[in-house]
Amino acid sequence: MEEARHWLPAAAAAALLLTVWGAAGVEVRNWGGDIATNCAEFVTVRSADDIVEVVRDGESYPAPVRALGSRHSNTKVIMADGGTVVNMRKMNAILGHDESKLTVTVEAGALYIDVSEYLQKHGLMHYVNTEFGSISSGAAAVAHTKDAAFVGEHGQISSYVVGVKIVTADGDKMTIDEDNHPELLRAVRSSYGLLGIVYEVTFRVRPLELIMLWHRTYTLDDFLSKLDDIRSSGTSVMIYYYPYEDKMTVEFRAYHNNPAVNASEPNFLLSGKPLSWWASLQFRVRNGFWGGVGPVFGRFINQMAAAPEWLTNGMASAFSAFLGLAGPFMSGGINYPPAQMHRYPDDTPQGQKIAFSLFSFPAHTFPDALRAYYAFCQDHLRRTGWRTSLPHVGYRLYRDHSSLLSHSTEDESLSFDPVTVPDEGWYSFLEEYNEFCAQWGGTPLLNQTPHLKARHVQAQEAYGKALPQFREVRRRMDPQGRFLTPHLRDLLGL
Ligand SMILES: Cc1cc2nc3c(=O)[nH]c(=O)nc-3n(C[C@H](O)[C@H](O)[C@H](O)COP(=O)(O)OP(=O)(O)OC[C@H]3O[C@@H](n4cnc5c(N)ncnc54)[C@H](O)[C@@H]3O)c2cc1C
Repeated sequence: MEEARHWLPAAAAAALLLTVWGAAGVEVRNWGGDIATNCAEFVTVRSADDIVEVVRDGESYPAPVRALGSRHSNTKVIMADGGTVVNMRKMNAILGHDESKLTVTVEAGALYIDVSEYLQKHGLMHYVNTEFGSISSGAAAVAHTKDAAFVGEHGQISSYVVGVKIVTADGDKMTIDEDNHPELLRAVRSSYGLLGIVYEVTFRVRPLELIMLWHRTYTLDDFLSKLDDIRSSGTSVMIYYYPYEDKMTVEFRAYHNNPAVNASEPNFLLSGKPLSWWASLQFRVRNGFWGGVGPVFGRFINQMAAAPEWLTNGMASAFSAFLGLAGPFMSGGINYPPAQMHRYPDDTPQGQKIAFSLFSFPAHTFPDALRAYYAFCQDHLRRTGWRTSLPHVGYRLYRDHSSLLSHSTEDESLSFDPVTVPDEGWYSFLEEYNEFCAQWGGTPLLNQTPHLKARHVQAQEAYGKALPQFREVRRRMDPQGRFLTPHLRDLLGL
């Protein structure tokens, strides 16, 4: 085990660029750089026994004790002011897979994209292949995630966690899996470290399988009139929204051998095998957009704030129109789902970082909420002159009870997720956006929806119905509040 003060600058700076040591403690910042916590102790653990030692020794390692994955959350879920941050990143071993059970077991600090690369070498893949590959497996097991779900599948990574090993608040090691503790596992899947520190995760995986993808661009009216057909098309549905232009592009994806999909879709250019250079180019361009080109252009638009409004808006609209062309470019692609996964390294330049914020809506209220959302974005632009600089995105998830605080518990859900290069205008927009989404019965993600207030989270339409059960489990697992942070206590009413 390494304490911060023992392995100061050189190695530390390389490992955690945004961690600063001072007399009053250690400041840890998230990847985006906009959330900071001042903990008393910052400990890098290398084994489950190291974690046990930290949890048991309340004098040397004050509460709250908070595990840290790869610090990519854009909310206060990583906060441990005055407490202890347990850095999991050195516990990153891939422990092996089981061909017969179709599972893979990893240490909690292993990055999802590294696990994915391991799986592909063995002809396997995750069920949920988020575009974001830098999520740690521990966070993937206990925090909210999102991706467009394939038919009959889930769009949240933790739904495919079949077992975890944790260090409990007493400092004991405990195995929680589908066979032994199915109800507790449901709570763990959305527990944000409140029930214990996860040191090992077992994911259910599946054989590697090709998917095909294609795109259609709609006007808002056209999209809403066809939404039922889109939802029942037997494909996964991801949406790129252009709210200021009243348009959107839908990305449809289906397993290559899916008989439900109409094979006459015009874009199935390839049959059977991926054209590797083309498919690889498509995904490189797409990943390069989110990881670099998009944010750089978005920042350029932001920096032109002093220019006449017609010019900045015109440029942003032209940019969206250009992105509309990306649909045909990406269409006809046949590839493996993990190709969309992208690494967002610690040393990403500030200018290449994006910010976003997601709310999910039940499918039956989504059409009205979406129409109102477009009007809200346009009205906000008229009143303040501020608009997001990148397309918004959204995902369809099927109904999913796998975790206690799932964001699609009640119904199939669809989301909207504004994306931008952050500046001052973004933070004012967020305040209004949160109120707007809450009024429309939206459900936020605790690690991906910044500036939340307790009422947004505890509303009946959000997590209100599930919270009593979650509170009861948390009280039972951690009566002394060893893992309880003020932020999560207030947000979840614990
Ligand atoms: C540029 C960017 C793109 C993104 N794209 C996507 C996307 O496409 N899809 C998606 O779903 N998400 C996306 N995200 C969000 C990201 O997946 C989440 O914020 C995720 O939680 C980050 O994982 P992390 O390892 O950095 O966790 P952290 O931010 O370090 O921690 C998250 C929470 O998990 C807890 N935790 C971490 N490890 C453990 C452990 N071992 N035991 C117990 N508790 C633990 C922490 O205490 C904290 O509460 C994106 C984020 C960024 C910055």
